[in-house]
Amino acid sequence: MTADRFCFDGRTPCELSALPTNAGDAREDKPKYLSRTAANLEEMGRLQDGFYADGREGLVVILQALDAAGKDSTVKHVMGGLNPQGVTVHSFKQPSAEELSHDFLWRANRALPPRGGIAIFNRSYYEDVLVVQVHDLQKTYRMPPRTTEVGQREFFHRRYRQIRDYERYLYENGYRVLKIFLNVSKEKQKERFLERIETPAKNWKFSASDLKERALFDEYAKVIGEVISATATPECPWYVIPADQKWYTRYLVSELVADALRRSCHEYPALPDEARARLQDCRRRLEEED
Ligand code: ATP
Ligand code: MG
Repeated sequence: MTADRFCFDGRTPCELSALPTNAGDAREDKPKYLSRTAANLEEMGRLQDGFYADGREGLVVILQALDAAGKDSTVKHVMGGLNPQGVTVHSFKQPSAEELSHDFLWRANRALPPRGGIAIFNRSYYEDVLVVQVHDLQKTYRMPPRTTEVGQREFFHRRYRQIRDYERYLYENGYRVLKIFLNVSKEKQKERFLERIETPAKNWKFSASDLKERALFDEYAKVIGEVISATATPECPWYVIPADQKWYTRYLVSELVADALRRSCHEYPALPDEARARLQDCRRRLEEED
């Protein structure tokens, strides 16, 4: 699978600024990737049907990225291949007062899908080690001294461990967590911001605070690399995929989701003999009508 090239499973550290943001050689062959994407979406739909009927596993797809990397359009595109019955999308925004009065995994845990279901997380609990760390937001949280007096570094190292443990817990309880980082370049982000400012239909997607975050681009890149290195494991790897060309991002995401479903349980439940006999009986009765 092409996407394997972008996999981090914890064996090698992730240095974000050294990773590709563009499609590279694939740019020569865009039509081929477009048709592969269409095939993946079709396969995804077929597999999801069995996955839903099987109902033994759940799938969480986490999308993380800096602004304007294309999370929203990726969600829209992936959803195009799935039956909405069986999928939920959750956008994790700034936490509400109620959310802040709980542990940081609480709101994500509430958004888990039932078995047979898929949840797409547009941002996730990874914000609690990214934006929170870059802006030192934990200093404003009401928490007991024993959790904060360990200092900033240890506070986040603990969270990395808590995330690894949480994802292992999910894995051991029948959930797969597919973690995708959309890696956009600083130049492309600028281009997309300008487009949002220049196109009235896109104005709503831009806010002045996006520029404040952009000023911290390099800082975010550093922290993201650290977070990915600390939370990538063989069961729950990260995929850091180029995001400068949306058609290529969509292709890779379609491959990753299709592959996750292929590896998950997606057998249609076989009825026991007795239930099959009952079906035959019903068939006879239907045929004998009139
Ligand atoms: P778009 O890319 O279209 O702007 P978005 O995901 O950025 O979509 P916004 O409403 O602009 O949506 O931003 C959500 C904001 O909430 C982000 O800046 C994100 O960092 C912030 N956020 C999410 N989770 C947390 C958290 N746990 N603590 C603090 N801020 C958070
Ligand atoms: Mg935003």
